Amino acid sequence: MNESSENQPYKVGSIVPEDGWYACVPCGNRKYLKAGTRFGSCLMCFGKEKKEFRKGFELWEKLESK
Ligand SMILES: [Zn+2]
Repeated sequence: MNESSENQPYKVGSIVPEDGWYACVPCGNRKYLKAGTRFGSCLMCFGKEKKEFRKGFELWEKLESK
C-alpha cells in the first residue's frame, strides 16, 4: 500500500538511486544512468525550450525494466 514510492520523479542534480533507464518527464527523452551519478539537464528540453527554461521544471522518471 505505498503507491507513491514507484515512478517517483527525480529532480535534476539529485543522485541516481540505481542503474537503469530514466525518462525525461516533459519530453520523454530516455537516458541510461548509473547509480551514484547525478541527474543532468535534458539536452532535448534545454535545446528546445531555451527561451522558457525554468529551473526545477526538469524531472526524470525511472522506467520499468520488466
Ligand atoms: Zn527533456
